Amino acid sequence: MVPRRPTRPVFVGNERTGVVQIGGGLPGADASPTAVAPVSVQTMTAGYTHEIDKCVAEIERYAAAGADIVRLAVPEKKDTEALKEILAQTTVPIVADVHFHFKRALEAIEAGVHKIRLNPGNISDRAQVEEVIDACKQANNGRGIPIRIGVNEGSIIERRDKQKRLKELGAVFGDHKHGYLLAIMITKLEEYLDIFYERGFRDVVISAKSMSAPIVIDAYTEIAARFPHPLHLGVTHAGPQDTGRIRSVVALGTLLANGIGDTIRISYASDHVGEVEDGLELLYSLGLRERAGAELIACPTCGRIQVDLFSLVKDVRETLAKEIRLPMKVAVMGCVVNGPGEAEGADVAVFAGDRRGIIYVQGERVANVTEDQILPALLEECRRFQGRVERGEAKLGEKKVDIVPPDPLGELGSGWEKMAAERMRAGEGTTGITVGRT
Ligand code: SF4
Repeated sequence: MVPRRPTRPVFVGNERTGVVQIGGGLPGADASPTAVAPVSVQTMTAGYTHEIDKCVAEIERYAAAGADIVRLAVPEKKDTEALKEILAQTTVPIVADVHFHFKRALEAIEAGVHKIRLNPGNISDRAQVEEVIDACKQANNGRGIPIRIGVNEGSIIERRDKQKRLKELGAVFGDHKHGYLLAIMITKLEEYLDIFYERGFRDVVISAKSMSAPIVIDAYTEIAARFPHPLHLGVTHAGPQDTGRIRSVVALGTLLANGIGDTIRISYASDHVGEVEDGLELLYSLGLRERAGAELIACPTCGRIQVDLFSLVKDVRETLAKEIRLPMKVAVMGCVVNGPGEAEGADVAVFAGDRRGIIYVQGERVANVTEDQILPALLEECRRFQGRVERGEAKLGEKKVDIVPPDPLGELGSGWEKMAAERMRAGEGTTGITVGRT
């Protein structure tokens, strides 16, 4: 993991919603030093902004799932007219996504929105951009609100000006695999940023999305090397959930592991709660955010399994999500082969045998139960452990004792015994059972 790239931070939100810092590490607007903020997670509403009640409910659903910031589209005046009401009822910072008409940006700023997103591909008139910049500077009682400059691949290309396009291409990235597109993205950004800098406005976040993961990786890598602003990472039009989440995670994960990226949106054609959950899981997996709630470790199962582990994992997961507030590690393992190793690193663990399971709390064996009792017993131990941690009687991640692997023939049920007996009868002369990592 490469350390996070320092950027000039921006701040989104107010006293009521809480303020989310994006980026950091370089001095901010008041020239005071800043720390790098945790990577934030965003999503966007899918419904109409002017349907106020539905829009508020949708935003709050994403906030409950863990979204730090929610964006909404304001294509028409009736959408910006709805904003004031929406802002009064929602609990996370809101970004207005403005396409085609700069007046929508001015109206959204007037309504009190916390950040604006502009696309140089469709709001390019200098006077109009300057008007939006000046309004953002004055907003929030003179403290200003930030602007994201989003140069999406699909809307950035100047198809009507071939000569200009070719000149841009040759000048910057002639030898690069995605040179043509990168040249246009970077050139557009430089041109656009010049307008902002000339107005003394630097509260900028940059995005450069494409539906191609390799282009996203290359574009953000080039932009990160050139501009000191925080980056909003995303793959656009990634597709349906199953494939879109992989396309997004591979691009965003690569960039984040290289220290690039300050706020993320995973996007795909499905319920956007999934985008938030996947974004958070990506950050947890890379150690870029402290996990909220339990981390579940589970084995994929194999020919050694003798309980219904998939159902068990599903049920454990659902209850942990509802009841466990602390980032405790819970391991659900199929057998004694890898069970002890994973259980040793977990706060609460079970590993199964033949329709039985042995439960451990920080390495200490607390129960040996039949399959039907594994779920309630494991969950009860999780609840009890959470209570002990909250009362200061236990600490997360503290292993008390090394796990001594149980005798698989005796304590974990008769199945192993039968298998061993069969092997012996078959003349193999061994139980075939090993203890340790596969
Ligand atoms: S823990 Fe046991 S059942 Fe699960 S995958 Fe590993 S060897 Fe197979």
